[in-house]
Amino acid sequence: MRRFRGPERDRAIQRGMEFIYRTACVPENFEQYGYDFLCCFQVISSTSLSEELRETARTMGRERARHWRLKHPRVPKKVDADTVAGLVFGSDAADRLGVRDKALKEQIRAVAGRFSARDYFWFDAANEPPPLDVPDGCECGAVNPRGRKICGSCKQPLEMLSRYAVYIDALTRSYIGERYGVTLGARYADVIKWLPVMRPYEGYNNGENPDFYWTVYAVTHVVYTLNDYNLYNLSSRWLADEFSFLKRNLKQAIVMEDPETMGEFMDTLKSFGLGENHSLIRQGVEYLLAEQNPDGSWGDMNAEDVYQRYHPTWTAIDGLREYGSRNERLSFPRLLPRLERWAAGNHQGDHGK
Ligand SMILES: [Zn+2]
Repeated sequence: MRRFRGPERDRAIQRGMEFIYRTACVPENFEQYGYDFLCCFQVISSTSLSEELRETARTMGRERARHWRLKHPRVPKKVDADTVAGLVFGSDAADRLGVRDKALKEQIRAVAGRFSARDYFWFDAANEPPPLDVPDGCECGAVNPRGRKICGSCKQPLEMLSRYAVYIDALTRSYIGERYGVTLGARYADVIKWLPVMRPYEGYNNGENPDFYWTVYAVTHVVYTLNDYNLYNLSSRWLADEFSFLKRNLKQAIVMEDPETMGEFMDTLKSFGLGENHSLIRQGVEYLLAEQNPDGSWGDMNAEDVYQRYHPTWTAIDGLREYGSRNERLSFPRLLPRLERWAAGNHQGDHGK
């Protein structure tokens, strides 16, 4: 069967990969986001259908991983929770790209326990759901502790983070930590157990739902952490709320002029089994092909934070690319009975204790 927009898609993906690699080779970009670049190359190299694309990502990823190892030979003397989390993400991806360092892993293990769940992602996941009282970063640049309503530095009122935004870091950090063999604040099971509390998901509501953007990303990161970043397919029966939310709202990414979000809608829906010829996927492909920038990236070309340059490009590639044959499976298969119970509307005995 002829692939929908096959040759154009392949070219667009290749140009996107070259943009990400060029961006990752700029020293200050790599210093700030090296761990995330490695994750990008690693997942594309391990889950893509195209052997050529896997090879491209593997070559780029291994070269960057060797460089990352040179820059991170040991855990620094003074570390905070974010530094430890970055080391875990980077080292896990480098390991998976075949550039291993067992000694660093032992050092990370030795320091990871110095920090609590609140240090890693703002809340004590074992005992409380994602909270509503985490202040967003202040415009003055200050980071304020949880519970603050007025900035301690400039005395201006603070905006609170969406609890969906708070949930994302908890999902990714607990998941990668457990996969790597180091607990970052909590077990993944203690984070995912709050999923029923996050449901039901409210839609875009003509722009009236302030949580919409973060709801999308919370839902996509529930999917990524349960499907091992696109290694497996998920049954829509296990996650009926998430599946229907994604299907209902994919077109809002076009309304919001947001290719980054479109990419995440598409790869998560594909993992629920939507085929390349499904009308939503085709609409997404058309949209992303039309939105690619002349330099091969997606998103705002004038964004100051380089994250806003490479990350939309990464998710657009994830939306456009095809995946190798996948079985229905969970990253942590022991969670299946819980997901099934929640899907049936039974949440008894899941919280706390
Ligand atoms: Zn302030």
